[in-house]
Amino acid sequence: MDYKNITVAGSGVLGYQIAFQAAFHNFKVTVYDINDEILEKAKAKFSTMSAVFKRDLNATDAQLEVAFANLRYSSNLAEAVKDADLLIEAVPENPSIKKDFYQKLVKVAPEKTVFATNSSTLLPSQFAEVTGRPSKFLALHFANNIWINNTAEIMGHPATDPEIFKDVVAFATAIGMLALPLKKEQPGYLLNSLLVPFLSAATSLVANEVSDPQIIDKTWMKATGAPLGPFAIIDVVGINTVFNINKMASEASGDPLKIKATKYLKENFIDTNKLGVSTGEGFYKY
Ligand code: NAD
Repeated sequence: MDYKNITVAGSGVLGYQIAFQAAFHNFKVTVYDINDEILEKAKAKFSTMSAVFKRDLNATDAQLEVAFANLRYSSNLAEAVKDADLLIEAVPENPSIKKDFYQKLVKVAPEKTVFATNSSTLLPSQFAEVTGRPSKFLALHFANNIWINNTAEIMGHPATDPEIFKDVVAFATAIGMLALPLKKEQPGYLLNSLLVPFLSAATSLVANEVSDPQIIDKTWMKATGAPLGPFAIIDVVGINTVFNINKMASEASGDPLKIKATKYLKENFIDTNKLGVSTGEGFYKY
């Protein structure tokens, strides 16, 4: 892997974190977004990262100076990508926005540039053709608060070049991630393939009046030694997200138990604005 120049497209919740993480690990990073006003807002978010990296990673002033010196900003896509070895796409989770972005990107990106999507729910094979370079395209999926929740799931589609895949695994490691390569495409990657059914099973047990959240959490923690049970995890993830996932699954399957679980979440948490840690109360009080 001889990547030096990285472009991050999208400076939202995940984009600015990815950009800062890579800059902190001494890659030259260009942050791209649709206009300069949004990039100005992103700069303000970057400036908060000094305190966060000092608090959580004992980062020194010298390291942070290097990180900031490695950052560039541009709202001109051709300019932003002109030297990129790797472009990490973190634009909104909307297939038509992503498709439109790749259509514009392919017209201006140098041939060498590898494209990686940070999409949470869409598969790389959905966009492989539109990228114009299927063999140099794959998913590189980070978790929120990437400097501490430092997993990077790397997932190709059938036409991804195995050498490119290896390079991206090496890049993820080089920016301080625990690289988690997947052998094939999987909706939800590794983590959400495990977590979504787990949280959904827990919610169904309560909605079906089999037991209570506290007892279910206690069962899980005692029996497995885990530090948190499913309902404490739901409070951290945010009940809004868990509700939306449940709702989509109940609409797609028509499963009466999932419908019941969705109704339970709506009436007890969504309608009362008890959305978990972020609002001070969910299944527990904070
Ligand atoms: P966000 O809405 O916070 O940010 C999206 C950014 O993309 C915004 O700054 C927006 O201005 C910009 N944008 C919109 N259209 C664009 C375009 N055509 N070109 C360039 N930039 C454009 O979204 P987010 O939460 O950062 O999510 C981005 C991606 O990362 C999504 O695919 C999402 O699934 C994934 N992701 C999010 C999380 C999370 O916890 N938020 C975690 C893992 C992965």
